[in-house]
Amino acid sequence: MKLLDAVDSLKIWRRGDQRAPHKPLLLLYALAKELKYSETKFEFSKIEDDLNELLNEFWKPRNDRHSVENPFWRLQTDKIWRVDYDWKLEKKNPDNISASWLRKQNAVGTFSPEISQEIKDNPDVARQAAQKLLDAHFSESLHQSILESTGLFYTGTFSNSKKSSKKARRDPKFRENVLHTYSYRCAICGFSLHMKTMPVGLEAAHIKWHQSGGPDTEDNGLALCATHHRLFDSGVMTLSQDYRIILSKWAYDPRDESNFIDMHQKRILKLPRNKRHLPKMDYINWHRKEVFKEPEIYL
Ligand SMILES: [Zn+2]
Repeated sequence: MKLLDAVDSLKIWRRGDQRAPHKPLLLLYALAKELKYSETKFEFSKIEDDLNELLNEFWKPRNDRHSVENPFWRLQTDKIWRVDYDWKLEKKNPDNISASWLRKQNAVGTFSPEISQEIKDNPDVARQAAQKLLDAHFSESLHQSILESTGLFYTGTFSNSKKSSKKARRDPKFRENVLHTYSYRCAICGFSLHMKTMPVGLEAAHIKWHQSGGPDTEDNGLALCATHHRLFDSGVMTLSQDYRIILSKWAYDPRDESNFIDMHQKRILKLPRNKRHLPKMDYINWHRKEVFKEPEIYL
């Protein structure tokens, strides 16, 4: 199995439109290590903390730990990853592997020899695979920080490899329609700036990500400045059913100097005049469930 084919046919746990980015994040992490440090063996006990952190940052925080053993073990079914372990303990039911069992068994994950060779011969394949994983599983505003957090940050080749990755078809008018609906102002802070005739620093955010089936329609869009787009996609903030801004308890200003917290419970600045363009509850609920870092701040 070639790496790019494997990434395209990655078996991802699915239930409705819930997100499950464990395997993509493990793969991005391992590809980064292989590219940067030529690391080919990944000891479970050594990488589990890093993986848990990545899942907390780019998925949802959990009170305890994420089940990092799941992607580590189950990536084997995608035929590009193998887990070797000691035979000190009885082999468990393969569907029920625990983190402590992997630790005790000194479990080590590696890419299959075919994939390792492929990456060695042509490192660009790994970068293309990373770009495919980002396009398929994460909102674009997060790509750069995922690259930085995994250590994959590599500007030049990433922009080239973008061309070769299959992107979901997007409506080119989405941005224009959403910005128009919100009168070219950030729905949260009102930011609005034009450079000659072009709006700058203002983006059309998807409430329900297109990676999870969110459509390119006004009722799934918000005009946001670049900063608020980033905060919205990172789960720092979400919307309530009556279009108030809800902040995550996990976000704070370490200097305690900004008035960031004052935003909590404020209604978004300008709702679309046309009722059909109001953010749809289904999409808000998805964002709250799949992206927002619960719980909300308690004032
Ligand atoms: Zn803003």
